[in-house]
Amino acid sequence: MSKDLKNNSQKSSHDVSFETRMIHGESLTQAWDFSKPLIPPVSSSTTFRLGSVERGAAGFQSFASEKFNDDPIWIYDRLDDPNALMLENQLAKAEGAETAVTFGTGMAAIAGSILTLCKQNQEVLCHKTIYGCTFSLLKNWLPKFGIQGKFVDLTQGCEEFITDKTRIIYFETVSNPDLEIIDIESIAAITRKLNINRSDEDKILIVIDNTFPTPCGAQPLRLGADLVIHSLTKNISGFGTEMGGVVIGAKRFETSLKLARKDFGAVLHPHAAWDINVHGLPTLYLRNKQQQQNALQIAQFLEAHPAVKSVKYPGLESFKFFNMAQKVLRNAEGEFNPGYMISFELHDAEKHTTAFVNHVAEHSYSITLAVSLGLTKTLIELPNYMTHAAVDEQHKTDFKFDPFLVRLSVGLENANDIINDLKAALP
Ligand code: PLP
Repeated sequence: MSKDLKNNSQKSSHDVSFETRMIHGESLTQAWDFSKPLIPPVSSSTTFRLGSVERGAAGFQSFASEKFNDDPIWIYDRLDDPNALMLENQLAKAEGAETAVTFGTGMAAIAGSILTLCKQNQEVLCHKTIYGCTFSLLKNWLPKFGIQGKFVDLTQGCEEFITDKTRIIYFETVSNPDLEIIDIESIAAITRKLNINRSDEDKILIVIDNTFPTPCGAQPLRLGADLVIHSLTKNISGFGTEMGGVVIGAKRFETSLKLARKDFGAVLHPHAAWDINVHGLPTLYLRNKQQQQNALQIAQFLEAHPAVKSVKYPGLESFKFFNMAQKVLRNAEGEFNPGYMISFELHDAEKHTTAFVNHVAEHSYSITLAVSLGLTKTLIELPNYMTHAAVDEQHKTDFKFDPFLVRLSVGLENANDIINDLKAALP
């Protein structure tokens, strides 16, 4: 490497802003030859030359250990790969954390983290509204391993629901689909107090799905969470081309997460890691900022429309969680970021909602009826029948799930075009 490049590669990225860091990444990394391509190459080899028995054995020994990060011996893509490592370094920095472990999807990250942290007879205390498949994982699958999900309203506090079995308190920074916001700092204060008398493997851990806000909109680790999860499929990937998931937090969680990922096989594809690192993260800040501006304008339009009964958007003063949003939805620089997700209900909802959404599906140019969220394109859906179809009827009745809530993920189109499409479809 020439002297100039060497100097360049040793530049510190400590004091640069979030958006600059997401564009340039690690200035010095073991994962790629910095002196050659400007953009890291996509690694397309599932297996790697080991060179000698001794080096191969050393590779298996150092996998998932501290040593790997200093001098990686690449072995096989299900263990670790250069593209995933680069992405993990970026994601850890984005959340202000020590480490990040990527997974094949958001659900794999959620399942991987719960299975890693819990043993038999422990409980996950979970907020009543969460993404439908997370509900299904806790309700239908984890009990087979002796891990129980207990669903409560965490906006009302958590202390009275905690038992000796509680291992994880689990919620979404902004709940899917009704955008409820929980006081992370107050839950963290309670767990800190209770954890004084608990052994390490029984300590209560706060695990938060930060998919809706992304690190641009909230930094739950700074507020007291132990682990943060993202579905990378959404706003972080951003273009609707890749699936992925990640668990982010302190170094002490890394080894078991990587070992579990290796044996369950829920690894992120290197092409997806490359794409998120090269296209998703470098554009996240700009996309998120524009989507948020659009969302505020659209939420204000909906709030003023006579056919709309109520609008949930963290940036509206009328929203029940507006004050909590001011506390929780802040980026690393402390700026308020109410996000790009809006949920709303129509007057006479039973009569009008399906026709309204079908009108959008048939006639709108800028809004598409589709699940997923956080993408460049604006998406609309009905959670009760789509993303939350897996939530059982009893749970929906117990917690008054709104069957006609409409969920809108605002994209990068001109806000006036989205508003015109909504205007045309509203009764
Ligand atoms: N978490 C939230 C809040 C989601 O909305 C979703 C998917 O919609 C997931 C997790 C699961 O992510 P994935 O589809 O990448 O498995």
